[in-house]
Amino acid sequence: MEKLDAPILVVTDHTGNLGDGFVLTSPSKQLLTLAGQLTNGRIDAIALNPQPQVEELAKYGVSRVFTPDLTRMSPRVGAVVAEAAYVAAQHDDTYAAILVVSNYRGREVAAGLAVRLGSGAVVDVTACRVIDGEIEAKKSVLAGSWTTVFTVTRGTPVIALRPSSVDAVEVDEPSKPEVIAMDVDYSAAARGVEVVASTEQSGSGRVALTEAPVVVCGGRGVDGDFTAAEELADRLGGAVGSTRVAADEGWIDRSTQIGQTGVSVAPNLYVGLGVSGAIHHVCGIQASRHIVAVCDDPDAPIFDIADFGVVGDVNEVIPQALEALAEKGF
Ligand SMILES: Cc1cc2nc3c(=O)[nH]c(=O)nc-3n(C[C@H](O)[C@H](O)[C@H](O)COP(=O)(O)OP(=O)(O)OC[C@H]3O[C@@H](n4cnc5c(N)ncnc54)[C@H](O)[C@@H]3O)c2cc1C
Repeated sequence: MEKLDAPILVVTDHTGNLGDGFVLTSPSKQLLTLAGQLTNGRIDAIALNPQPQVEELAKYGVSRVFTPDLTRMSPRVGAVVAEAAYVAAQHDDTYAAILVVSNYRGREVAAGLAVRLGSGAVVDVTACRVIDGEIEAKKSVLAGSWTTVFTVTRGTPVIALRPSSVDAVEVDEPSKPEVIAMDVDYSAAARGVEVVASTEQSGSGRVALTEAPVVVCGGRGVDGDFTAAEELADRLGGAVGSTRVAADEGWIDRSTQIGQTGVSVAPNLYVGLGVSGAIHHVCGIQASRHIVAVCDDPDAPIFDIADFGVVGDVNEVIPQALEALAEKGF
């Protein structure tokens, strides 16, 4: 596989807080892995917290860790992160690309950063490769009806990768990253929004839907009962999603809705339970690597895209699946 020689800069995310320590997110590890697949050169990272996870970053071959001074600035604000990434990018004018996670903030960061750099951004990317010295980025567009390949033709490309598009793989020999503190003179645009309060919602305890390696989605066919979907998700270490019908019915929180007017997911495994596979839903799941469907209608369009389909009643199929998983130690 062709690779570049120029370095790549990666904007990493973390969870946690000052008291309990920070944890590098899985999508950040995936970004660092992608960087290693695209270049033989240096991989640099920006850590948006005062205690960068240097040991973790070393496992992905990072050479330099930039730590911007975020005093009184919140990394939750896209313009702040774009500004910090812009300053980091000025340390080396040979970066072949800047990679960010394609989530709500990451897409904003990508756009703001490309404007500052005078380059271009591609967001919601699901795969990248190097062809003739250029990075090609693939994504699906127009509600999933087309797959399109982009190259950025001006300046340093900014690429936002969808979580779970790449498997995170540690390097054989951890690196010894140099930590570089950065002063950032934040612009008026970055100072234009201030986070005045921030309260963590009590979550389900499961991995975030857009970052989950496994998503179990309930549709109208679960008839208001998400117990089986939740149990299957928990057994597989995944998250629970829903179709719009299920969210409209009030069976589950709106934040779990997947599709054109919900979130897009790209897990290793998507399991649809009583989901018909309407185009408005499918556009949010088609980047999934494996699609399994359980639906009682053999003509349901979900079977056109499923890798494995079961025509049957979820109330009969899921208990059997849970039993089979238990036998295999899940
Ligand atoms: C502008 C617009 C935007 C939209 N955005 C979204 C969006 O973001 N996300 C989204 O999901 N939808 C969206 N929709 C709605 C979308 O078009 C579909 O109506 C919706 O996805 C259907 O959800 P469903 O598959 O749960 O329900 P249905 O289409 O009703 O399918 C339910 C399926 O379950 C099967 N079933 C029933 N009982 C059982 C059982 N016991 N066991 C097994 N199978 C069973 C049925 O045979 C059927 O095939 C949007 C629509 C519009 C117009």
